[in-house]
Amino acid sequence: MTSPCFSSQQLSAILAALPDPVFILTRSGRYAAVFGGSDLRYYHDGSGLVGLAIGDVLEPEKTAFFLGEIATALHGGGLHIVEYTLSGSDVKGLKKEGPDEPIWFEGRVQALAFQVDGEDAVLWVASNITPRHELETRLREQSETDPLTGLANRRKLMTALQQHFELFSRYRTPATILTFDIDHLKHINDRHGHLTGDRVITALAGVCRDELRCNDIPARFGGDEFVALLPQTDRQSAGAIAQRIRQQAQRVFAQLGIPGVEATISIGLSEFEPADTAFDNALERADNALYRAKEQGRNQVVLS
Ligand code: GH3
Ligand code: MG
Repeated sequence: MTSPCFSSQQLSAILAALPDPVFILTRSGRYAAVFGGSDLRYYHDGSGLVGLAIGDVLEPEKTAFFLGEIATALHGGGLHIVEYTLSGSDVKGLKKEGPDEPIWFEGRVQALAFQVDGEDAVLWVASNITPRHELETRLREQSETDPLTGLANRRKLMTALQQHFELFSRYRTPATILTFDIDHLKHINDRHGHLTGDRVITALAGVCRDELRCNDIPARFGGDEFVALLPQTDRQSAGAIAQRIRQQAQRVFAQLGIPGVEATISIGLSEFEPADTAFDNALERADNALYRAKEQGRNQVVLS
């Protein structure tokens, strides 16, 4: 079957009906033509851009980004794919219709085999991938978060430990590990039920949030055991922080008003050392220190 022969009027109508916008951009960043973008749920009408330069409508940083991507596509000569974000307010001169929120785009940038207005040029198809991007972000957050406490989970902590151990190995940037565990939680569960035990675990997460700095990474390691990674912190400062967490946990647990229970935590502390070959070495030392804190009577901090 041969394909139908369209008049140039019909071809223009077909291009205008494309749901995703298609830009013809020259190497110097001129909008030579704009087609499609008929899906106004996702796109603004970009027809007013024709004849303008990217720098006329976008801030310098975004302009440099677009010019760089155009150059990359032209250099490669084929299809170049890039993800970026843009909001209506980033673009001067757009009509009011269309979304207000920042939009995540996938740009499929194809070098053209002919020049436009005497310049190399690309065809840039911009697809709104915001729903996919939001889903990816939500799934990533879920996969790194402990559902009971909202703290980082073991997986996220391991990634952070690896990154900071690499920094330590290369630049000797210090970092400290605290492992802490609620004392006699089984007893609290047995006496007052699992939900009360959960309240104690959640309260400890709150203490971590209040007492640690924003670049520290507290995580629920499993059960009633927590691990916090304190970047750029030596053992002396970390020791003081650990004592503060221990005391504050005791105060906060007391405020929960669980009858007949004086809940406390024990803490083990270690730091990365030059002889370590992996972060596990420091984690194991912190764990051994925690074990000693338990053995020596609980409700205390032990440095490895
Ligand atoms: P220790 O002082 O030696 O730490 O004694 P412990 O009773 O706290 O016991 P251990 O830390 O060895 O074991 C942790 C206990 O915490 C086991 C389990 O009953 C309880 N636990 C673990 N995960 C949860 C949880 O998600 N919720 C509640 N309520 N309890 C938990
Ligand atoms: Mg315990």
